[in-house]
Amino acid sequence: MAGNDTKPFYGKLILSGTVRCETGLHVGASRDIMEIGGVDNPVMRDPFTGYPYIPGSSLKGKLRCIAERIQGKHFNRRISPGFRHECPDRQCPVCRLFGSTAEKKDEENIPSRLRVRDIFLTLESVAWLRDVDTPLSLTELKYENALDRVTCAADPRSVERIPAGAEFSYEVIYDLEDEGQCLEDLENLLNCMAVLEDDYLGGHGSRGYGKIRFLGNRLALRGRDYYLGRDGEKVLADRESLSRLREILGELYEREIKLVFGREG
Ligand SMILES: [Zn+2]
Repeated sequence: MAGNDTKPFYGKLILSGTVRCETGLHVGASRDIMEIGGVDNPVMRDPFTGYPYIPGSSLKGKLRCIAERIQGKHFNRRISPGFRHECPDRQCPVCRLFGSTAEKKDEENIPSRLRVRDIFLTLESVAWLRDVDTPLSLTELKYENALDRVTCAADPRSVERIPAGAEFSYEVIYDLEDEGQCLEDLENLLNCMAVLEDDYLGGHGSRGYGKIRFLGNRLALRGRDYYLGRDGEKVLADRESLSRLREILGELYEREIKLVFGREG
């Protein structure tokens, strides 16, 4: 496809719901940015409200990493820290979903079909965490006793984390672009979310941090007519578990989603 082709606009799918912390969650901030007395490892906070949050880029990065592993992709691109996969192949199931930046002059960027919004605490969780007795705002301090590998001396460190039980609202938006790839993209996304539930988000996963679940999932279809003001959004699933959503996805695609590709222009 040439770079200046106009892409048809079919609309978007909005996947949203709750991210529930089953164990303490630490999505770390740099100490250079967040100077909080006594906390060795502070969490990310929204600069406006001061509440802890999960940057959309953290969730997207984690899902991408899982997708790369599921698809067996080669980690060819250096990022900080580590490596990841990026390629110029528009058929690549990872890059067409998560995007890819051109490395050479004759290559093109592949824009991501996914937008992952920043993930904020629900109002209920803010109210609940305000009542938790802790010196920090809406978080807890966990003391980890690491051993210095050279001297074997104990090196106690404090890690700030969002307590188990806290709930966030997430929203992931998928651009409907390619009829031939749409269902596979959506399956890939939900599969990665399922793997993430058995993996971890944020830091210190090997210590048991960052177990999350996606609950009360809602899938809404906003076709072209929605954005032109001619039609409402179509709620395809509401308050479903992730596993149920995965079960019915194929049926939803056949019955509702694929129809949007016939409604161009
Ligand atoms: Zn790729």
